[in-house]
Amino acid sequence: MHIMDDYDQRLKDLQATLETLIDKYDLLPDASYQIFSIEGEIRSFEQRKERLNLRFSRIDCHLCKQPIWNEDEPAKLGDKGSILICPRCLCTIKQVKGTTEIERDLEINSPGTVKQDCEGPLKTLQSEFLIRKSEKFWLIHEVVGEIYYRAGRRKTNLLNSWIDEIINRLNQLQEQKKFMEGMRTLIPDLHTQIFSLQAQIQDLQSKVDRIKGGRIPYRCSQCNLWLKENGIPTFFGNYTICEQCKKIISEVMTTSEAEKKHGLPKGTIRRDNSRGSLEKYKKLGLLRQSGSLWLLHDIVILDKYKRIETKEQVLPVHSSATMSKESIPSDLLSRSASIYKQVMERKQLEK
Ligand SMILES: [Zn+2]
Ligand SMILES: [Zn+2]
Repeated sequence: MHIMDDYDQRLKDLQATLETLIDKYDLLPDASYQIFSIEGEIRSFEQRKERLNLRFSRIDCHLCKQPIWNEDEPAKLGDKGSILICPRCLCTIKQVKGTTEIERDLEINSPGTVKQDCEGPLKTLQSEFLIRKSEKFWLIHEVVGEIYYRAGRRKTNLLNSWIDEIINRLNQLQEQKKFMEGMRTLIPDLHTQIFSLQAQIQDLQSKVDRIKGGRIPYRCSQCNLWLKENGIPTFFGNYTICEQCKKIISEVMTTSEAEKKHGLPKGTIRRDNSRGSLEKYKKLGLLRQSGSLWLLHDIVILDKYKRIETKEQVLPVHSSATMSKESIPSDLLSRSASIYKQVMERKQLEK
């Protein structure tokens, strides 16, 4: 059997396991962690496969800068159709909505609720661009519906990720154990309980060690790419978003903000829209109506009114070689942080 088939089979198996975990999410203790673990293996396999893969792409998505593959069917802008936008970015852009549309999606019946929340409990999301003010209006990414509204409008969901939950639980168990140990001589029964507590603590501790162990697999929930930044990214529950996608979201705006930003006479976009000269962008979802607002991505203005520079340029070629430069060594995942720590401690002792 060819080595690529091997990888394909293994990846398929891992993917199936992942699906099962997601399906049975509520049955499995620490499902988030187990998913994270499987994702780790998938990432490692994908990267090994990528190194063997001789796939080339000559073009990047104009927005996310990721290579575009044949099957992507990108949107084509620019004079010669040479400016491409990948389907993932198009989807991300369409998910930014005004408060009225969000309220309708979520079946919130008292108008103004979402706007009020943007000024209140949701304010922390501004730094991640999941909410943003465009002139007088709040624009909201639809994931806020999942992480806040459908999750019972609890503020803790915005502050606690699954990682925080594991860490909190670990701290709690450690406190319990300490207390029980103090009572040990008074209540002899406690012995077995302390024992089982110890096992749980060890389990959680090793998970926390692995999560914190350097460059590990986190995917952007938006574009599905592995995050390149070091450390633990910002999570809302299980949702996370990369810097590039944040930027794309932040470039969705109301027509009035766009006109102001690019020095167009007020009302230009609405006028051209009603004259039917923006149909192309509407079809792609780059310009869309949200409640009484018209929202568009910055690229529309650049393409329609500013003529993006499309002079011939040498485009970088993506190959397995350039793509894996950033990658982690494939054995990294087996070297979890705790193993690494043990090795270092042993070395320390030998000195
Ligand atoms: Zn893209
Ligand atoms: Zn992303």
